[in-house]
Amino acid sequence: MTEGQIKHMVERFLRWKLPENFAPDGGIQFETTGNAGTQYEYKREPTGTNLFDFQQATAMVRFMLADWQDEVRLEMRAFSAENRQRCEAQNGFKHPINGWSPSDWMTATMGELGEAANVLKKINRARDGVTNVGDAPVPRLYEQLADEIADTFIYLDLLAQATGVDLASAVRAKFDRTSKKIGYSAPTP
Ligand SMILES: [Mg+2]
Repeated sequence: MTEGQIKHMVERFLRWKLPENFAPDGGIQFETTGNAGTQYEYKREPTGTNLFDFQQATAMVRFMLADWQDEVRLEMRAFSAENRQRCEAQNGFKHPINGWSPSDWMTATMGELGEAANVLKKINRARDGVTNVGDAPVPRLYEQLADEIADTFIYLDLLAQATGVDLASAVRAKFDRTSKKIGYSAPTP
């Protein structure tokens, strides 16, 4: 989440009209009708602005997003845990993660990336009109490419775990650092 996106959410929240039946608690009172019983009667329609100033609303949005970003990371971590469990389980690959050196995991990862490259080579041949006998049709080749890229990622995750790298955090941190370095911020939705 970028600073621009946070600002956008804060501004939208501050303009948001509270529901007609909103019920403040904690000793706060709200009268729906102003000047009730007089000829100057009017309806009060508070927005988020009545609750918080810009700075306070920004703090609230940041609080909301902290959880959201953790969720994304947790999902990735849950996948890593599942990946490792299957790798090591007796009913899985029976392969302790430390049974291979980082170089072994790297070789496996690069092997899958090579398989992806081989599929892409066939896609390139089809593009150039020089398809070899036995090459699968292009839509099937794209399915195979997806499989090989997925295999690469699965091994890459095991390589990261074998070397003590938390891939979810590492990717997030590196991506954000690079964005900052080049002055990039994602477009506001
Ligand atoms: Mg493969």
